[in-house]
Formats: sequence, structure tokens, C-alpha cells
Amino acid sequence: MFRSHTCGELRSSDVNSEVTLSGWVHKSRDKGFVIWIDLRDRYGITQLVFDEERTDTDLLEKARTLGREFVVQIKGKVIERTSKNPNIPTGDIEILVDNLVILNKSLVPPFTLEDKTDGGDDLRMKYRYLDIRRTPVKNNLIFRSKVSMEVRKYLSNEGFIEVETPYLIKSTPEGARDFVVPSRMNEGQFYALPQSPQTFKQLLMVGGLDKYFQIVKCFRDEDLRADRQPEFTQIDCEMAFVEQEDILTTFEGLTKHLIKEINGKDVSAFPRLTYDDAMKRYGNDKPDIRFGMEFAELTDVSKHRDFGIFNSAEIVVGIAVPGGSTYTRKEIDKLIAWIRRPQIGAKGMVYVKCNEDGSYKSSVDKFYSQEDLKVWAEKASAEPGDLLCILSGSIKETRPQLSALRMEMAERLGLRNPEDFAPLWVVDFPLLELDDETGNYHAMHHPFTSPKPGQLELLETDPSAVRANAYDLVLNGNEIGGGSIRIHNKEIQKIMFKHLGFTPEEANAQFGFLLDAFQYGAPPHGGIAFGLDRLVAILGGQETIRDFIAFPKNNSGRDVMIDAPSPLDQEQLKELHLKIQS
Ligand code: ASP
Repeated sequence: MFRSHTCGELRSSDVNSEVTLSGWVHKSRDKGFVIWIDLRDRYGITQLVFDEERTDTDLLEKARTLGREFVVQIKGKVIERTSKNPNIPTGDIEILVDNLVILNKSLVPPFTLEDKTDGGDDLRMKYRYLDIRRTPVKNNLIFRSKVSMEVRKYLSNEGFIEVETPYLIKSTPEGARDFVVPSRMNEGQFYALPQSPQTFKQLLMVGGLDKYFQIVKCFRDEDLRADRQPEFTQIDCEMAFVEQEDILTTFEGLTKHLIKEINGKDVSAFPRLTYDDAMKRYGNDKPDIRFGMEFAELTDVSKHRDFGIFNSAEIVVGIAVPGGSTYTRKEIDKLIAWIRRPQIGAKGMVYVKCNEDGSYKSSVDKFYSQEDLKVWAEKASAEPGDLLCILSGSIKETRPQLSALRMEMAERLGLRNPEDFAPLWVVDFPLLELDDETGNYHAMHHPFTSPKPGQLELLETDPSAVRANAYDLVLNGNEIGGGSIRIHNKEIQKIMFKHLGFTPEEANAQFGFLLDAFQYGAPPHGGIAFGLDRLVAILGGQETIRDFIAFPKNNSGRDVMIDAPSPLDQEQLKELHLKIQS
């Protein structure tokens, strides 16, 4: 038996018991006549004591040889500590050791395994197994497991069946490139790893399973953006005989359950915004609604003067930053420099200080009267003391720029409290998106999403006006889930493929199996997928998903611990019928 108790378990009520513990040497303090060792395992830390008076000399000498992270087993007696440590649950007791077995030695770890470590990101990733010994990382993984359990609990109770779908498949377009796997037994042929189990879950509905879910890995070969992983986990769900309303209700239920069970908070409101409204009011299809600063369009009310920049702009739009009127010229210049950074790309910013005395001071006083500025301030619901920040230009560029400024100001003002949860649904997305480069349409969600009822005909005449029966669940400015009601009719699916630029032959070659299945009584169905990594991070009050993944890839998509990706040797390449072009 390696242990009678864990290192987080013993209390004063255990004093005088004989115990066996196993764990890692976290720290050792050698005062000569006495040695204290913090023994650590997943459950906590227990102090061990060896001293000249009570410990025999050989044992004391052996204890002296222990280095950090040695794995040991000890036997001893629980005793009351003379100086107690109120900071840890086992702080009232220590173990007077009478037997010590070294189970394994350890090299000196390359960084300190404390809550705050001196290890840089790269080093921690290379030795991730050591990083996982640190409490914050360990706790994040435990937290993630708890979230997954709650997801399973909720969905199982609702009658969802967990089904595994294959990883070696054929391409499923979700808007990214596929990772592919060469087939040794089929020369020149490749599997694709799923970007999502989309088509399979639809086939499970054709198969009559009615309610499916899976906590599943998805793979997307995208150019990596900050905090994206090439493989990530989704809570993937599908339901038959449902309309949008059924899905929204079910998954509001899941979200409420999680926030309640995990964070102990009740959320009841799940406001709904159309995509168009979200863009108009927040410049963003995943708005953070924990705070206001809504967009005020000033295009019409700013055109009557000689200010060319506004006159020629497609949109003039502003936000009122609470308390911002006290910003100095220098602070405002800094803000302007911030929005002009290439990442944001605004050309400039007009500002109006709404003074406490009801007067206005703006950077365009030359062109606009106090009356004009008052109208703007009212439109933006600016209070005395606020700073009105105004951007102008094309709608496509200006809205995201102002949205970035809105988020930045909220961050600076401390309005993005991670303990507040403000979910919302964004609905009625455009079905198709025009690709500026190729001039082709592609599906904004994916090709299996159905148009809103009654909009099919519009596809022929005005494709970009067609709205999708699709919805995103947004939490605190992050898209945590997205889905749609699907097409379940072969003819409609064929029309959709046509609009996405597939010839009938191509559509058949790639999706013949789905079109076929639709001919055998496919029920109306729809679903949603949540990004588990991001959801866990948000519930955990943090922003980076990497901290909640046991073995994440770095920003270049590499696993620096196992050193992947890596070349194959000639023999293996040959077996796979692959030639590397040099
Ligand atoms: N397959 C979709 C995605 O991965 C989710 C869905 O439509 O259910 O985003």
C-alpha cells in the first residue's frame, strides 16, 4: 500500500494516528538539528518533520539527501504542530517520520513549481508535465473536468445520447483547411480530420437518434491567431424535430445550469439581437453587453457643415465613454495613437468633451456649434463628464474599429468583470458572405444551414439579403456556441451547393452520402456546438484557453514538448506513397 491518506487530508483530529503518505518533495528546510519537508500530491501539502531528538541518525541523513521533486513514501505519526500554518488545510499538524523510502529521484526542475513560477512560456510548455504539478495549472484541469461532467449530466438528463463519430473522414467544410492523413492501404488517397462532426451528427438524426451530443476534438488548419488551437474541443449537439426556438431554450438551459453549478450564479436573461442590430449597436457580432457604450450613428446629424471628413464618410459613429471628459490632451492623443495602430487601423478620431457645466469642447469646434454637439451627445446618451469618441469612414472598417475602442475603454474602466455573466443570442445571420478576393459566395455558418423560412426564393435574386436560420450564443464578448437549423431536403441542399459554386458533380463527389441520406426520410433537425476550451476559460474567469488545455500547441501550432510536427523518415514516406518535393 503506497498510502493510507493523501497529502491534503490530515487534520488535528488525526493526531497520534500512524499514517503512510506518498508524494513529491515540494520544499525542504534544513535547520541542522531539524529538517522540515513539504510533501505534495494532487490533494495538498503535508509537512514532514525529522529532528535530532526524535529521529534516528540514519533517517535524518537520508532525509538530508532529498532534492526537490524526489518521489517518496513515508510512514510516521501525526503530531500537533507547535507553530501552526493557517494558510493550508493541513496546517495544524505535521508527520514525525520514522520510515522513508525514496521511490524515485528527480533532476532539479528547470523552473520553480510554485503558484507564481519563474518559468517562461516556452520552458513551461516543453516541460508541461512539470507545469501541471503547479497548483494553478492543475486546478484549471480539474475545473475543466468539472465543467465537462456538468455538461454530460445536464444533457444526459435532457435525453441526449453521447455518440462517437469518426476522426478519419472526408472533408467537412467549416471554413478552414483540413488536416489530412495519407492512407497507406489506398495509394494516393487521404482522410481528412473533421473540422467538426457536422455531417455525421446530421446523419445520426436521419438515423433516428433524436438527440445527440459529443464532447469531441475538432481540427482546423487555420493560420493561427492569438489563442486559437489547431485542435480544440467542442460540445457538439444535434436534435431532430426542432425549430430554432427549441434549440435556444434547450441550450439556455445548459448555459444556466453551468453558470449555476460552476459559478454559483443565476442568469435568467438571454436577450436576442439580430446580426444587423448587433453590428449597428456594437459593431460586432459577439458584443459584450456587460456594459453600455452603445454606438450612436451620427451620420445624418453631422453632414450639414463643412467638415469634409464626415461629409464624405459612409458612416459617422460614436460612443460615450463614461467620465472621459477629464482626459488631458495628452491622454486623448495616446488614445488616438492606440486606434491608429495597424491592428485597428483607424485614421483618426474626433472627440467631444461633455463638460460638467453642460458646455462642449470638441476637436471640431471650428465646424460645429454647441447646438450640433449637443445633438450628438444626446444621440449617444452622453452624460456631463463623458467623452464622446467618434470615428468615420466605410461601414465595414469603421464599426470594427469603434468596437475595438469600446472594448478597450471598458477594459480600462474595469467594466469587464469576469464574475459577471451576460449571455445573449445573436440571430438572423446572413446566409452567405461574399469573398472579396474571389468574388464567390461562401456559407457564413456552413453549407448545411437552412435559410430562414420563406427566403429560399431570394437566393436566386438577392443572395446576400438571405438570412440564415442560424444563431450564436455569446458570453461576455465571446462567441461560445453557434449552430443552425439544417437543410433536410435534397433539392434545397443542391440549390445551396450550387450557390456556393459547386457543380452538381462536385457536390455529389463530396456530399453524395448526405444528399442520398436526405432521400430516406430525413427529419427536420438542427443543432449547435459550443467551444469547450473557451467556455471553460470564461467560466474560470480567464481569457486564455491554453491555460485550460493539458497539452496545448504554441502560437505556431507546435507541440514543443514532443516536438511535433516533425519529418518522417524515407521508409515511412515510401510506405505512405508520399514524396517530399524539395
Ligand atoms: N458544426 C458547427 C460548428 O462547428 C456547429 C453547428 O452548426 O452545430 O461551428
